[in-house]
Amino acid sequence: MVKGANQQVRAPSLATMYERAIGSAAMFVPGFFANARPGVPSFLVRVRGDRVAIEDAPLPEQAHFLGALDGRPCVAVDEGTDDETADETAGAAGFVGLRQLWGQVDDQVWAVAGRAVQIVAWDGTHRFCGRCGQQTQPLADQRARQCPNCGLAVYPRLAPAVIVLVERSDGRALLARNANFSDPFYSCLAGFVEPGETLEEAVRREVREEVGIEVRDLRYFGSQPWPFPHSLMVGFVAQLASGELRPDGQEITDADWFSVSDLPPVPGEISIARALIEDWRRRRGA
Ligand SMILES: [Zn+2]
Repeated sequence: MVKGANQQVRAPSLATMYERAIGSAAMFVPGFFANARPGVPSFLVRVRGDRVAIEDAPLPEQAHFLGALDGRPCVAVDEGTDDETADETAGAAGFVGLRQLWGQVDDQVWAVAGRAVQIVAWDGTHRFCGRCGQQTQPLADQRARQCPNCGLAVYPRLAPAVIVLVERSDGRALLARNANFSDPFYSCLAGFVEPGETLEEAVRREVREEVGIEVRDLRYFGSQPWPFPHSLMVGFVAQLASGELRPDGQEITDADWFSVSDLPPVPGEISIARALIEDWRRRRGA
């Protein structure tokens, strides 16, 4: 923990939207082993790449057990990708992308669908040992695959990323336009954590690299699973310490200090970026 940042850590004050979006998973109990017979009623997530079809169905013989949702076994079934589906018309029926699904189902159901996509993707991309090339096998007592030849074990993969809303002493917030955004909105700065780095160091480095300023007084905000494809977004609020905005021109094409009364288009409610922005607006009395 970075000195100084430690004093800033306190219980996150979450915006109402944030709690509604990702804090309501109380009815889902994660688990690895299904203590239930095949055929009992289950909550089934069929997975085809990053698209899912959700249904009530008998518990299948072969599936990834995810946990219990409202007391029912909750499982994911890998149905390959649309590319692998011979019958293209059948391939589209009932399946919807995770992003499109958001807001159409209960938030905890969406979180379970995201979990299903990540588990299926991990399982499907670790069938062979990365060290010796042998086929891996699922372990019986934990969610892992192991190589029978050299013993290498692989676990579901998560890529942590930091996201930060930087504020200035006049109350304005830094929002930036990312070259990779498909829609013309401005958002918080974000980036992946590198090996050997603390979350706080990642925040300082990303902000420095992307817009050329230094930040201080980092405060933890909250986190969000981000199954696109396997991130964990860790949100922070920080204060401008020094420097003038100089967007890098590569990843960030524009950046500016905005007030609550002149906000540009911002990301949708699915994202922790929006929750950070709403929290800031609320603190500014908007
Ligand atoms: Zn091996």
